[in-house]
Amino acid sequence: AELYAINEWGAGYFAIDENGEVAVSSTTENNVKVQASVLDIVRQSRERGLDAPVLIRFEDLLAQQIKRLNEAFRKAIKDSNYQGEYRGVFPIKVNQQCHVIEEIAQVGAPYNHGLEAGSKPELIIALSTLENRDACIVCNGYKDQEFIDLGLQACSMGYKVFFVIETPSELPIILERSRALGIKPMIGARVKLASMVGGHWNATSGDRSIFGLSTAQLIELVDNLKAEDMLDCLQLLHYHLGSQIPNIRDIRTGVLEACQVYMDLVREGACMGYLDLGGGLAVDYDGSKSNYVHSRNYSLDEYCADIVDVLMSTLDPFNIAHPTIVTESGRATVAYSSLLVFNVLDVATYEPGTIPEQIPASENTMIHNLVDLISSANERNIQECYNDAVFYRDELRELFKRGQINLRSRSLAENLFLAVMQRILAIADDMPRGLDEAEKLKEQLSDIYYCNFSLFQSLPDMWAIDQVFPVMPLHRLNEEPTRQAIIADITCDCDGKIDRFADRRGTRKTIALHEQKADEEYYIGAFLVGAYQETLGDLHNLFGDTNVVSIRFNDDGNYEFIHEIEGDSIADVLSYVEYDPRTMQDRFRRNAELAVREGKITAAERLKIMNAFSDSMRGYTYYER
Ligand code: PLP
Repeated sequence: AELYAINEWGAGYFAIDENGEVAVSSTTENNVKVQASVLDIVRQSRERGLDAPVLIRFEDLLAQQIKRLNEAFRKAIKDSNYQGEYRGVFPIKVNQQCHVIEEIAQVGAPYNHGLEAGSKPELIIALSTLENRDACIVCNGYKDQEFIDLGLQACSMGYKVFFVIETPSELPIILERSRALGIKPMIGARVKLASMVGGHWNATSGDRSIFGLSTAQLIELVDNLKAEDMLDCLQLLHYHLGSQIPNIRDIRTGVLEACQVYMDLVREGACMGYLDLGGGLAVDYDGSKSNYVHSRNYSLDEYCADIVDVLMSTLDPFNIAHPTIVTESGRATVAYSSLLVFNVLDVATYEPGTIPEQIPASENTMIHNLVDLISSANERNIQECYNDAVFYRDELRELFKRGQINLRSRSLAENLFLAVMQRILAIADDMPRGLDEAEKLKEQLSDIYYCNFSLFQSLPDMWAIDQVFPVMPLHRLNEEPTRQAIIADITCDCDGKIDRFADRRGTRKTIALHEQKADEEYYIGAFLVGAYQETLGDLHNLFGDTNVVSIRFNDDGNYEFIHEIEGDSIADVLSYVEYDPRTMQDRFRRNAELAVREGKITAAERLKIMNAFSDSMRGYTYYER
């Protein structure tokens, strides 16, 4: 547990059980505590024909997170005697999958938890999923006539749809459509705050953020609404400082500035009632509980209490009524509920190969020198040995390039070099102040575990913005992991690798893994991947969607497979890039027929080949055992 910091990032949902397996724990709707081994779920998925890589969705964890968020705000509101309410909205873009949105709507209903829609399709999702009319639907993003008409009509049906104005040009069309349909809109204004935040996703804060109104534009909006006698439609103030805000101080600063804007809108005569703080509630991906980009230096309770505190201390001196607090927490709501599981296909080590006992005298002297270094390395000459070994290896490579030593000698030289490096590392490990190059050397000599997944499809933020997700084996956790490794995916792209791992002191470049056994699959999990990863994923090398299973616990401690979704077949991914699988099959059939006519294969062999071709078309895009 220490090694992988699972108790730190696991948020009480993930831990290691007495069998040395990762266990997922939750509480059912009836408050019964339940637990299961993740490996057991993987085995059962396999039996259902859904092999790794498989994405496991834990519906209970999603429900728990919605509950935790709403209960934490309720507690903060009650503790401070705040007069407003909390209304969360889940931003659909963070995970648009139908089952996820349906689950959020269902478990969120008692809390009036709503949805945030940034586009027409997302508004359609919101309107067709939400039944609760007290929940908010916040419409961000550019809105055309169709979008606005749909939203206005939903308003007339009793839905609380807010049109958030992101740019000045949006107002005239909202007013025009409102007049045409005779429906009054509920308007929100998104402002650019001057407050900047730290972290990865801070481009949405500050003067140069691409979204939101400047203060001058906000005043113009107020004046335009006044001129139309529609200032009462302006009811919500929205801002979003960026996702994954690691530092609570930035959250407080943002609320403080927004409060000042809110108060002035009230004074201007707007019918304000809602303050929407956007997203930003961070996830502690590395378990460091710090203000490091992959973490957060605050708890959920602190987040809620601080927001309520800033609101009250700013508004109360001026007797401004407490607004309904809206947050658009996406990441923190869904991250925990998905886990990607993949199996190890192969391992490359940087161990030296067999070295003959006697090196022929005819070999180059530098080869003999490398042999001597293996036995002569000690604590005192370790740096010198390292320098010499690198020198001899480089010189021998040069000789090979010039044709002065052959392939066998070069292979011997590389093996000897690795043997010297392993020896040096062993010595450095026992020294209080080892070797400057030791860390880098460890990394260079670490194993590569080739695993059955695509980083680009399943963990795109890891590739695009160096996001760190907790990664660890799912079993054998009562055995010491003896290998240091990096993880490579199967896309044959040099970027398709995981070489930064969560660590409470920052990140590390290798992960401790167990030696692969010949007769047993070794499963690794990438945790907390429920936010943003699924829809940002791409088809690099045409690896498609993975298999997905959704799990829900029962009160008796067992769990059910609520949904089983087969990943993309090869025919599916080919059709995404405009190939027609049937035409492809016809063409291949013709080529095979030609081979029969040319006498290269028999008709019976042709049939076998064609069957293999069709089987492949129906098959999973990932490695199948
Ligand atoms: N609201 C808006 C307007 C956003 O752009 C985003 C994402 O960046 C969110 C909410 C969700 O943020 P988070 O996932 O940090 O909660």
